[in-house]
Amino acid sequence: MLSYAKGPGANLLELTIGQVFRGTVARHGGELALVVSHQNARLTWTELDAAVEAVARGLAGLGLHSQDRIGIWSTNCLEWILLQLAAARMGLVLVNVNPAYRSYELRYVLEKSAMKAMFLRERDTRTDYRQILAGAGPVEHAIYFEHPTWQAFLAGGRDFETPPVDRHDTANIQYTSGTTGSPKGVLLTHRNLVNNAMLIGERLRITHEDKLCSPVPLYHCFGCVMSSMLCFVTGATLILPAASFDALATLRAIDQERATAVYGVPTMFIAELQHPEFARFDLSSLRTGIMAGAPCPIEIMRHVIADMHCAEMTIAYGQTEASPVVTQSKADDDIEKRVTTVGCAMPETEVKIVDAATGATLQTGEIGELCTRGYLVMKGYDGNPEATSEAIDKDGWLHTGDLAVMTEEGYFGIRGRSRDMIIRGGENIYPREIEEFLYTHPAVSDVSVFGLPDERLGETVCAWVRLKPGAEATPEAIREWCRGRIAHYKVPQHVRIVDGFPMTVSGKLQKFRMRETEVETLGLERAARVRTA
Ligand code: AMP
Repeated sequence: MLSYAKGPGANLLELTIGQVFRGTVARHGGELALVVSHQNARLTWTELDAAVEAVARGLAGLGLHSQDRIGIWSTNCLEWILLQLAAARMGLVLVNVNPAYRSYELRYVLEKSAMKAMFLRERDTRTDYRQILAGAGPVEHAIYFEHPTWQAFLAGGRDFETPPVDRHDTANIQYTSGTTGSPKGVLLTHRNLVNNAMLIGERLRITHEDKLCSPVPLYHCFGCVMSSMLCFVTGATLILPAASFDALATLRAIDQERATAVYGVPTMFIAELQHPEFARFDLSSLRTGIMAGAPCPIEIMRHVIADMHCAEMTIAYGQTEASPVVTQSKADDDIEKRVTTVGCAMPETEVKIVDAATGATLQTGEIGELCTRGYLVMKGYDGNPEATSEAIDKDGWLHTGDLAVMTEEGYFGIRGRSRDMIIRGGENIYPREIEEFLYTHPAVSDVSVFGLPDERLGETVCAWVRLKPGAEATPEAIREWCRGRIAHYKVPQHVRIVDGFPMTVSGKLQKFRMRETEVETLGLERAARVRTA
């Protein structure tokens, strides 16, 4: 049997985000829409609607027009949600910027996206965003969430006529780390986003009576599509427990708000299960949830089902370019399928496994590149037609770069990646980007970056570095130099100064041999043996 599957038919929504949201406000107005624990914010759908309107008026006051771009560079907060909805209402394109970005990455995104306004916090306990922005480049309007700037932004609002918004318009740009060293902006339409969210909601059997506790970042599709958009579509309550991931705050929010669903990348669930105060919390309200974003350890899934009371827990697999979810397990699949596979094709979604070299569809049981086709495929990469045509072939198939296998029953397992990407705690990292960055260090002559297995984070970043003749630098000095210049999660955990690299006869670097050496030297054999879905 060929490794080709098509999910069941479904009635796709032919609506914009604004239309979907209005419907939910009309149906569930007085019910609880949003809880932001760390800001003590609780809003009903009607209150959320009014707050969105005020932000939309503010955006009109800046003189922005349909399809103009506005950026948001922030950890999770109420304002993030308001801007997501207000931008959609105004037909603007929301540009998500990873709050971990530092000057090197931010400069690139400012230039490429040509955003007219940037929304951010001045600083939080860890970071002075205002200063990093000043070092990265100019933007027409920088609007800070702190008073008085935010108040002035709202006060400067003016009436506007809701512009015509088409469901095929781009609503959102989400950056993914690029194979070529720079991030790529993924263009996603209203139709992509509302439908992916709607179908995930169906698989989880989410209704307006559910409460979703989501500790994942809003800048990422796990946050702004699978979490917030899903709530806008279904009327479920969204609970944001903290500005950035905090195991204790997540457990507390589930308990206090009686959450029925919880999300996370594997690393987050590991931190929650291992938290010394885990047993103190009552998690019995939980029913379901999603683990996704990185290979999901089978044992951790079993613990989430048993110890967090998530009898209907699922795994989803996807990527930003696919809006994101491609496959997901169903709440009523047997436990074995739910812990050992990433589920089956979503409705209205085609999936096939191909031989990456020939493009031929493989037989079930054979490992190859996973491709997907349907409403979920992105519009393309922002301003990068070559990269777009490399990712989406002429028949409309998106080539994910993930190696997977399909069973005869149509369930998928992820077996690796055809491109050399590292996933550290759910954050994707392309070695090439860090290598290019390390080459800008004055003492570095040659560098090779690769992933090492890690029980908590899935993988960590390791760099082998050859120094220029006569140059001196310690591994710690190189790590220190990286801090503040690139996002913290990209700073190599391990740096080794070497005289040379293992190579093939044809001169190709053998990263797998460097990895083997490190697994042995650092004693990582146990982490290397963890089994994932
Ligand atoms: P992103 O575009 O940031 O959402 O990252 C997508 C990538 O994360 C995919 O291409 C996969 O390599 C990986 N990924 C996502 N979900 C899973 C999963 N359930 N199991 C294994 N890898 C996953």
